[in-house]
Amino acid sequence: MTVRTRYAPSPTGDPHIGNIRSALFSWALARANGGVFILRIEDTDQKRLVESSVDAIMESLRWLGIDWDEGPGVGGVHGPYFQSQRLPLYQKAALTLIEGGRAYRCFCTPERLDQMRAAQVAAKRPPGYDGLCREISAGESEVRAGSEAFVVRFAMRREGTTVLDDLVRGSITFENALQDDFVILKSDGFPTYHLGLVVDDTEMEITHAIRGDEWISSAPKHIQLYESLGWKPPLWAHLPLILGPDHKKLSKRTGDTSVLDYRRNGYLPEAMVNFLAFLGWSLDDRTSLITIEDLKEQFSLERVVANPAVFDIERLNHLNGHYIREMPSERWQQVIAEWCEKDLPASVPRPVDADLVSAVAPLLRERVGRLTEVAPLMEFLFGFEAPDYDAALLEEKAGGDPELARRVIDTALLKLDRVPRDQWTRDELEAAIRRMEDELGTKLRKFVPVLYVAEMGRPQGIPLFDSLALLGRERALQRLRTARAHLEHRR
Ligand code: GLU
Repeated sequence: MTVRTRYAPSPTGDPHIGNIRSALFSWALARANGGVFILRIEDTDQKRLVESSVDAIMESLRWLGIDWDEGPGVGGVHGPYFQSQRLPLYQKAALTLIEGGRAYRCFCTPERLDQMRAAQVAAKRPPGYDGLCREISAGESEVRAGSEAFVVRFAMRREGTTVLDDLVRGSITFENALQDDFVILKSDGFPTYHLGLVVDDTEMEITHAIRGDEWISSAPKHIQLYESLGWKPPLWAHLPLILGPDHKKLSKRTGDTSVLDYRRNGYLPEAMVNFLAFLGWSLDDRTSLITIEDLKEQFSLERVVANPAVFDIERLNHLNGHYIREMPSERWQQVIAEWCEKDLPASVPRPVDADLVSAVAPLLRERVGRLTEVAPLMEFLFGFEAPDYDAALLEEKAGGDPELARRVIDTALLKLDRVPRDQWTRDELEAAIRRMEDELGTKLRKFVPVLYVAEMGRPQGIPLFDSLALLGRERALQRLRTARAHLEHRR
């Protein structure tokens, strides 16, 4: 049997972290078994469609390295892969169910349904359709369908139980008495999620349906639909809930935001994949680092846990730092160049100087946690003067002592001026700056922040000695003179 899995997002906005995990696990299962992974767009809720979502979905998947074998952009024999283009299939299934007595047209008006709900609430009865239109005869139904608006409802079995055999959660039994006759086809001829899913997972020969825990309560609907249509359901795997650090369901506030926002905020796809992989799955009891290549070989549903997973942003930050430090230097240089292109001020000429990027790259590795920090750390290397800064910072970094700030700058000017152009190297510069300790009677770490501000416009950054070397004699001295002028001005 070929394993066939799918990711079936609704294009109602950019995919979020919690949702994309289903894509990663579905993809990994297919890849680990030499199977097929399908992308299907569930665009049946026309009111909630967001135009840009399909692009955002594909972009999110591509960014993470999740490729699909069938779906938008690649096609496939089971297409089209947009549910809105498959309406006849759902209508046919609905008709089959009506003819077999397992579904019926419901002509109830929105007003009647509102009254029914209000009465249920008042009587403290569970909500749900009361089954009024179930009793309409087939003949009458046919006739009324010619002139009245209707939806199609599924006639749930009312006796007994429906059992979900879930690969993660085991067996779960649902009382049929608690189910109601849900809508499968809306008045606009579009299916609801329930019918669309059952028809398409069957048509697309899905073997494993992997989805979030929030769908468990819908499982009896789907199971009964499969039974009534005489189709075999796929194996189900419901992934555990993701909790925020507050141990409540992950929300926008606690991290469940757009995948592409994580990219914008400077996270690497390697870190994101690693992070998502362990939200509900583990390789063994020890492994905390995994690459996408390993994941696609080693993933198995057996090691998905039922217990909720906790989303820990610190963990993601840690992984991001790890992958920044571990990636091959060529790729690191590419990443830096990319973020410089994107984030440096427009005044910096493009393309950004490749020699400079390769010189700075090793220095940035240990200093960058997120890629958004790259451009701010590099900016000082481009202008003649340092990026604008508040002159008060020079004094603040001298422990609030204006006199010390002036002495630091004057001494640095004196010492660096003595370093000739042909000896303007990192090591010479280090020696020169260290000699300032005696002169100032102060430890290096106490006064270098003042020099950082003067040279870079910020109190920390890539190491000072390297920075001075990269800036060159003329610019480095000029920036000290400018700082001196700022201090004079503040007197
Ligand atoms: N369209 C559903 C969603 O966006 C798909 C759920 C499923 O995977 O069955 O969550």
